[in-house]
Parts: sequence; C-alpha cells; structure tokens
Amino acid sequence: MSETSKAQFDAIVIGAGFAGMYQLHLLRDKLGLKVRVLEQGSGVGGTWYWNRYPGARCDTESHAYCYTFSESLYCSWDWSERYPEQPEIMRYLNFVADQLDLKKDIQFDTRVSGASWDEDVRCWRIMTENHGEYTARFLITAVGCLSAANIPNFKGLDSFKGQWIHTGSWPQDGVDFSGKRVGLIGTGSTGVQATPVIAKQADHLTVFQRTPNYSVPARNAPLTEDFKRSVHKNFEEIARNMKATTNGHPWGVENRRAVETSADEQERLLEAAWQVGGMQFRAVFNDIMVDEAANKVMADFVTRKIRETVKDPTTAEKLTAFDHHYSTKRPIIDSHYFETYNRENVSLVDVKEAPIEEITPRGLRTSDGTEYDLDIIVFATGYDGVTGPLTRLNLIGRDGLSLGDVWQEGPKTYLGLQVEGFPNLFTITGPQSPSVLTNMPVAIEQHAEWIANAITHIDQIGASCMEPTSTAVNEWETQVQKAAQATLLITAKSSWYLGANVPGKPRVFLPYAGGMARYRDICEDVVEQNYKGFKVA
Ligand code: NAP
Repeated sequence: MSETSKAQFDAIVIGAGFAGMYQLHLLRDKLGLKVRVLEQGSGVGGTWYWNRYPGARCDTESHAYCYTFSESLYCSWDWSERYPEQPEIMRYLNFVADQLDLKKDIQFDTRVSGASWDEDVRCWRIMTENHGEYTARFLITAVGCLSAANIPNFKGLDSFKGQWIHTGSWPQDGVDFSGKRVGLIGTGSTGVQATPVIAKQADHLTVFQRTPNYSVPARNAPLTEDFKRSVHKNFEEIARNMKATTNGHPWGVENRRAVETSADEQERLLEAAWQVGGMQFRAVFNDIMVDEAANKVMADFVTRKIRETVKDPTTAEKLTAFDHHYSTKRPIIDSHYFETYNRENVSLVDVKEAPIEEITPRGLRTSDGTEYDLDIIVFATGYDGVTGPLTRLNLIGRDGLSLGDVWQEGPKTYLGLQVEGFPNLFTITGPQSPSVLTNMPVAIEQHAEWIANAITHIDQIGASCMEPTSTAVNEWETQVQKAAQATLLITAKSSWYLGANVPGKPRVFLPYAGGMARYRDICEDVVEQNYKGFKVA
C-alpha cells in the first residue's frame, strides 16, 4: 500500500507479525472496521522477519506454533520439522496473510515515529518516519516483546574495521562466514542457536560468554506423514489443550513432585525426558519452579549432561558456572550446542571474569588485556525486552504524558492490555501479561480477541473511550509481583524478565507469572463484570 497523508482509520495496528495480522483480520473481517497496519519491515513476519540469523528456529513445536482460531486454516498447512525454522515460519505467515487477504491493508516499509492522543477529538494521531500522518480512534500495538535490540554501548564500536551485526536485524542476503574469524557475544537462546551453525562455516569462532545457560537437546527432526495427519485429525484436542495449560503448549506439567520421587526414579524419568528433548523436559516434575530442592534435581542432571558432553574440563566448567536456578531464565533448547565446543575451531571466553573493555579496529580487547582479532562480530546480546518496543514508540497520552515517563520505574498496566492516561491504546502481549512465559501465538490470539470484543463493547454502548482506573492498575501490579514472588523466577537476578540485561532499566518482573489459563479466566471475569476496572466513557 502507498502512504496517504492524514488518512483516517477506525484502528491503526503497529506491526505485522502474528499479533498484528490476527488483529487486522478480527477488526476488519469480523467487526467491519477500517483498519491499517503499519509495519517497518518490507513483509509480514514481525520478529521472524528480522531474526534471520543462522540457526534461527522456534522452540515451540511447529504444530503448536501457529494460529488455532480456524480449523480450516490450521489443517491447510503442513509443517515439515518438529520445530519450525525461520524461513518456514515466514512461509507460513505469508500463506496466512494471502489466505486472509491481509496484505492489502498492511503498509510496509513504514516505521512509526510517534503517536499522541488528541483529547479534543478523542483519537490518536500517528506519525511515521516517512512523514505519514494518520488518525484513528483505536491504536493497537502488535510490536512483539523482543524487537528492540540491546546493543551494549562498547567503547570503540565505530572503529571496528570488520562487519558487526545484531542477530535481530540480520541482513536479508545473509552473511558469509567462510574463512572468517568470528566473535559471537551472548549465550542466550539466540547465541545457543547460532553457535553450532556459524562454527561449521567459520574459520574460527570465539564465543564470548558472560553468564552460562542451561540447555536441553531440542531433538529436531523431520515430521512423518503420520504425525502431520494426526495433528490435523486432532486439531480440536490440540487447540483445547493449548488454551487449558499454564504455558500455552499442548502438553501439561506432570502431576508429580521431584522431592517425593526416589533418586532412581528421578534419574529414570529425567533420562527419558532428555531423550525426548524439547521444552517438555521441564514438565517432568511440578515443583521445580517453586522448590529449590526440586529445582536442584533438574539443575544437577543438566549440569552432569553438559560435563559429559564437553571434552575439555575447563570449558565444561565455564559452561556450567550457573548463577541461577534451572529454568528461571528463559529455558533454552539446542541442536548440538555443547558438542560444538569439542570442535577445534571453536573457543569459549569468559567475559564475566574479564569483561569486554573495548572494540578495536581489529577485533576486541577484554579487561585482562587479551586482544582477539576478528573479521565479524555477532551481537547475540538480546533485547530491551517487553517494555522496550513500546517505550521506543514515543507514545504521548493525555496531558502530554509520555509512556516512557509513566513507566520510568517499571510498567504500570491493567492486565497488560491498557495503560491509564492512554485511552483506546491496546497493547497486545504487553508487559504484565503472560506473554513471554507462554507459547506466544496462544497469548496473542487471546489478547487480539479480547481487544476486538472490547472495541465491540465500546461501540455497542455508544461510548468513545476506554482506559483503566488507577485502582485497577495498582491492584494488577500487586497481583503481577505476587505471582512472580510465588515462583523461583524472581531469584534469577541476571534475567531479562527482570530487565537486568539493560543498564539503567528498573528491576521489575515484567510478565505475569500466574499462568495463561488463570490469566484467561481473569480477563473473562473482568468482561463478565461489565469491564470491571475500566472506565468506558
Ligand atoms: P538474551 O537471552 O537476553 O541473551 C543475551 C546474551 O547476551 C546473554 O548471554 C547476555 O549475558 C549477553 N550479553 C548482553 N550484554 C552483554 C555484554 N555487555 N557483554 C557480554 N555479554 C552480554 O537474548 P537472546 O538470546 O536474543 O534471546 C532473547 C529472547 O528471545 C529469548 O529469551 C527468547 O525468549 C527469545 N528467543 C527465542 C528463540 C526461539 O524460540 N528459538 C530464539 C531466540 C530468541 P547475561 O546473561 O550475562 O546478561
């Protein structure tokens, strides 16, 4: 679509990933509204459009990493592998966009530079970097939780003579690592996925690790024709389970406590789960996130597995010097990550012991004075998670309030859906909603549907605005912190769930940890009580 200046819409949606696409479909095709999606990329895909780094693959199994609002849509797509790779997710999202004829209402290559609420006419004014101006009654952010890159402010970065890339804005044409000395900074989900693939191509790969992470084998494999048929056949059950579980995956956590299981039985169960691989490994016991002794059973098992895999004892020691309980930072699954350290062309550098001091024209130097000559530096340094994509939008609410200022000490929302002082702004998978603690498409579908219903309600009662009350916002904040305190998640002091990875960011637990199923009930209850906690004026 081409940009039309001063265009008026019922709703503007920012972002054309899973969330923006479904929101467009609901508002345009179910509610009949005039909707425009503004998307900075040149195609649909959101986070997957930008994350094209080697090894990029989803950790959710493919048959659950998709929309479930339509059985016919679900059954008209076949996934090829247990976990979908980035190009396959892009093909899927393009397929959905074409099936639902979404692209005609998505304006690509359009980055929103700011938006402000106009109280006089009760609408949002949205500005774009290419000088577009839009007005809309409703502004819906579908910008994802992990789209604002965290690029550490290393001294000397501009002086680097080689190529440096953040994994979240990977070049569309790829990067040729052959014959190159590559440095990779960061060992979160991204670094763990990229390491084995880059190691196969590069002349030498040096991984700079600040904090080691637990990881479990993904055991990715092609899907059999039988499996593909069975997921289509069992669509209803799969979709129902995804809605019923705490984590939005189709599998639940076993009703079994580690601390009440004998050591032999623990070992047998964990070994079996290790062989199956994937996120389900966490589901063997139901007390690992609330009981340190139970957690230690898992942590010890994974530590032992890593030490058995990595041949060099010094490297194995560095890879298992964990500073947190198992699964209290975002759990990771991998494809031969630890095995990669047995390759001769791969080395691990501990940058907790000797932090990166400076990027130099030839590579980087750590605080112990060691110089590393590099041709390419890959920043797998993560994101200003959950709040960053929203505060960077320059949103100005009533009375000139900026969202960044309102959230200076941490996000304040009601249900992660709305912010006081920002009428008719809805935030899909916003902070203080389950978002990153769940399977994202499930959280997205629930939010997009709730928002569409709220807009219907506003119109049905002849109102013009909706925003939360301060009482509801304060009470929700208490519930969010209480939910986190009830788990060991809050103990992982270096976690991005707490904003710990971005210097100066307030240390506040960002998502709602009470579980997707409980959260869904809370949202439904609010509606049943006539949108309790919201002012609909
Ligand atoms: P991340 O988990 O935040 O990891 C960033 C890494 O960079 C950490 O190891 C961090 O160390 C390191 N780092 C940051 N600043 C540094 C500095 N100044 N010096 C040295 N090291 C530094 O980011 P990510 O790996 O991109 O993953 C972010 C999230 O995206 C994941 O948790 C997940 O939710 C999602 N994701 C999902 C998938 C998937 O589904 N397969 C794949 C990739 C990402 P510290 O730990 O010490 O901070």
